Amino acid sequence: MALLAVLLSAAVLLLGSLTLAAQQARMVESEQMNARGERFLQRLEQVFGQLRQGLDQLEAQPLRGCDIAMVETLRQVAFKHRFIYEAAFVGGRQRCSSWPRQSSLGAERPADIQDEAYRYWLNTASQVNDDLAALVVGRGYFRVSVSRGHFADVVDLPEGGSLLFVPKAGGAPLPILGPEHYWPPVEGWPPKDDDALVLTEGQLIYRMPSRIPQYDLVLAVPRDDLMQKVRDGWRMLVPGSLILALLIGALVLQLVRHRQSLSGELEGALHRRELRVRYQPIFDLASRRCVGAEALVRWMRPDGTLATPDLFVPLAEATGQIRDITDYVLEQVLEDLGDLLQQNPHLYISVNLAACDVTEPRIGQVAASLLAQYRVPASQIAFEISERGLTDIEAARGQLMALRANGHRVLIDDFGTGYCSLAHLQNLPVDYLKIDKSFVDALGHDAASSGVAPHIIRMAHALKLKVIAEGIEQEAQARLLGSEGAHYGQGWLFAQPLTADKLRTLVEQDIPVIRAA
Ligand code: C2E
Ligand code: MG
Ligand code: MG
Repeated sequence: MALLAVLLSAAVLLLGSLTLAAQQARMVESEQMNARGERFLQRLEQVFGQLRQGLDQLEAQPLRGCDIAMVETLRQVAFKHRFIYEAAFVGGRQRCSSWPRQSSLGAERPADIQDEAYRYWLNTASQVNDDLAALVVGRGYFRVSVSRGHFADVVDLPEGGSLLFVPKAGGAPLPILGPEHYWPPVEGWPPKDDDALVLTEGQLIYRMPSRIPQYDLVLAVPRDDLMQKVRDGWRMLVPGSLILALLIGALVLQLVRHRQSLSGELEGALHRRELRVRYQPIFDLASRRCVGAEALVRWMRPDGTLATPDLFVPLAEATGQIRDITDYVLEQVLEDLGDLLQQNPHLYISVNLAACDVTEPRIGQVAASLLAQYRVPASQIAFEISERGLTDIEAARGQLMALRANGHRVLIDDFGTGYCSLAHLQNLPVDYLKIDKSFVDALGHDAASSGVAPHIIRMAHALKLKVIAEGIEQEAQARLLGSEGAHYGQGWLFAQPLTADKLRTLVEQDIPVIRAA
């Protein structure tokens, strides 16, 4: 059991931590890419800003034509702007540059992209030529360029990543830096939403607005190290998960051992007849005389204390030991009070049954043989079945009918806390309803449920059932319940659970119990 708990919780925790690690890795990845994209955009703005500024300055000065003054002006512009590698004048046949011996502009050709003021030439990544500038921007007769190395340094492109100009209207992208990309990266590109970051199976794609209205700038980075990050994150969570699983296993082991030892102890207690039965008297609410008692089991612990049933009855129900307890209580009742019952034919003792007692015929047979042995009529032994225990009403009906046919009275205990609908109740062979203590407690206190007890009483009257109210602690409750039509009452107002001898005295004295209100 503990091993199963360890394995099960380890599996659940490991799976949970794997999901967590994957989620975290994905989150970190998106955050990093968003931050990187923003940084990237800032740097690109700087580069483009300088290129345009240089061009604007050249355009604004009066010189046109290649002479020493022009070359000097071009040099000055290239010198003043960190990102401008080369500035040039291209007018008809005249061509001069700030860097005449190693021009990076390449042969004159139509611009790849054009907006209102500027033209752009890209030396696409597929035609890598380190002598050519990565990007050339032109205005009028002037050109400025940024070198591939400088550009790559400034924008700090992640490994395997590419920078692309992507036409908004669709069509092939123009690579600026990095390897070429299969395009479109996802179905339905460009995405409708405004999210800058798009994740595909293999890539992180960051879309940025560009100064050129028809184009987006796109940074595409491969995602192949995600699984590694998940594995790394998971590796850190594994020891914690395993320790937690072991702790859970140890806890389960302890619980199982405790239950096993408690169940073993109960077995011994039953064997050594260490269980005790106490009797809580039941009073007629009109005459205030004792009409019967409920048998309540106790366990005499080795330290001399009496353990109440909530400590062991649920366990006994789970292990099946409750059948032995029921038989034991029944036998004890007759041994303790058989003669008292014979002398007081109107007195009855009610015995609590567990759910499993009412789904099999055993208890009727046990009762019949004990009653014959002690010569007590079956009408003096009632059986209580908690409404919560009536889960299989069909199975219970047959057994309850058999018990009644033998002459026993049958009660539904803790009424109002279970699943018994009115329709079921009509068809159930029962004699009494026992109103649960919680509804008696609520009388006069809890506005919402203080009407439940009177309602149950009216319902019982309509079904010709008698009503017992349990847990009466105050005289006012007894009076109210009596005036509403409850027939019997049980509770500390009248008496706590008593030993057999004390019950005998109470019955023999037969004094009506009325307390001050
Ligand atoms: P139950 O059959 O509803 O028994 C009534 C419980 O309420 C008893 O607790 C009783 O001592 C307590 N009680 C009675 N009057 C008052 C009162 O005025 N104030 C308060 N605060 N409590 C009151 P107990 O003896 O601890 O029994 C608890 C439950 O254990 C019982 O509820 C019954 O379901 C189960 N039980 C007791 N004896 C047996 C048994 O022999 N067999 C089975 N199967 N279950 C039993
Ligand atoms: Mg009871
Ligand atoms: Mg009860």
